[in-house]
Amino acid sequence: MARIDLADIAHAYGPRPRSEADYALKRIDLTFKSGGAYALLGPSGCGKTTMLNLMSGLLVPTQGSVLFDGIDVTEQTSEQRNIAQVFQFPVVYDTMTVYENLAFPLRNRRVDGAVLDGRVRQIADMLGLTRSLGQKARRLTADAKQKISLGRGLVRSDVSAMLFDEPLTVIDPQLKWQLRSQLKTLHRQVGNTMIYVTHDQTEALTFADTVIVMYDGRVVQVGTPEELFERPNHTFVGYFIGSPGMNVLPAWVEGRTATVAGHPISLPRTYEKPSGTRIELGVRPEFVKIAADGKGLPVHISRVDDVGRFKIARVRLAGHALNVMVGEDVQLSGVAAAIEFDPSHLHIYADGELVEGRA
Ligand code: ADP
Ligand code: MG
Repeated sequence: MARIDLADIAHAYGPRPRSEADYALKRIDLTFKSGGAYALLGPSGCGKTTMLNLMSGLLVPTQGSVLFDGIDVTEQTSEQRNIAQVFQFPVVYDTMTVYENLAFPLRNRRVDGAVLDGRVRQIADMLGLTRSLGQKARRLTADAKQKISLGRGLVRSDVSAMLFDEPLTVIDPQLKWQLRSQLKTLHRQVGNTMIYVTHDQTEALTFADTVIVMYDGRVVQVGTPEELFERPNHTFVGYFIGSPGMNVLPAWVEGRTATVAGHPISLPRTYEKPSGTRIELGVRPEFVKIAADGKGLPVHISRVDDVGRFKIARVRLAGHALNVMVGEDVQLSGVAAAIEFDPSHLHIYADGELVEGRA
C-alpha cells in the first residue's frame, strides 16, 4: 500500500486548453494517506473517473505530478504502479470460468497453488459467487458480472492501492448494502489504501473515513462524514450531503445578527460585513424546529411527509422554501406555524463559500 499525492494536478482532455472551462479537473492538491479508506463523491460529470484514472496511470495529467510514497510515478503505467482498479463497466472474460476470472490477476503475478486457490475461494465466498465458480462468465447475469469484476479488484492484497469506480451500480439494493459493509471489513483486515468513487452519499458515508466532495472539476471539501454534516464549507456540500439537504436562505448579515425576510436571527459568531454578492444563511433541517409556543419565525406549512422515524415538514418563510425535521410525536395542525433555529448550527456563506466568523 502507498501514500498517494496529487501535486498541483490539472487535466484537460482536449489539446491546448486555454480557459478554465477546458479542464475536466481544475488544479487539485490532495494527499491520500497510506491505508486510508476514501470516497470520491460528486454528481455525474464532476471529474471523479478522471481523478481515479490519473491515480491509476490510465491518464497522464496535463499539469502536475502523481507521487506514490514520495516517488514521481506520473509517467508510469498502472502495472508499474501496481494498482488494482475496478471499472464502472464490468471487465469480465466471457469465455473463462468465474474461478479463472478471479484467479487471473494472481496468475499474472505468478501467484500459484494453495495461495491462489485460498484467495479465490475467500473472495468468491465474500461475494456470494462460490456456487458459480465452475460456470463460464458468459452465462451470468449483469450483477454477477459486476461481482466478478469487483472480485478481480480485491483478489490481490499486495497492491499499492485499490480503486473502485462506482462498482455496485447494477447490484440490487439489499446486496449492495451487504457488499459495502464487507468492503469495509476487508479494508480493516488488509489495511490497504482504498479509493471508492460514487455519486451516492450513503455509499460514500458508510464506506469511507474521509470523503472528498467534488463539484464541476474541483474538490470542494475533504472531511469525515461528521465534518461534512456539521460544517459544510460550501453550500453545494450542504445540499448534496444530508437528506433532505441543508436549507439555504438569502440573508443580510452584520455582527452577530442575520436578517432573513425581515426577521432578525442570532448567530453563534460575529461577522464583519461579508464581501460577496450573494450572502446566505445555511441550516440543516435537523436543526430547525417547530416552536411549541408559536413564538418564532412565521411559516406556512405546505406539506408534511412521513418518512418513518421522523416527519419532514415542507414550509415557506416569506416565499422561501425550507425543510424542517419533526419528531414522529409532534402534531402539526393547520397551515400556520413558527420555527426556531438551533443557534449553534447556523452557517454563513458568501457566494457559496463558508465565511469564518469570530467566536
Ligand atoms: P464523473 O466520473 O464524475 O462522472 P468524468 O471524470 O467521467 O466524471 O468526466 C469529467 C468531465 O470530463 C466531463 O465533462 C466529461 O464529459 C469529460 N470527459 C470524460 N472523459 C472524457 C474523454 N475521454 N474525452 C473528453 N472528455 C471527457
Ligand atoms: Mg465516472
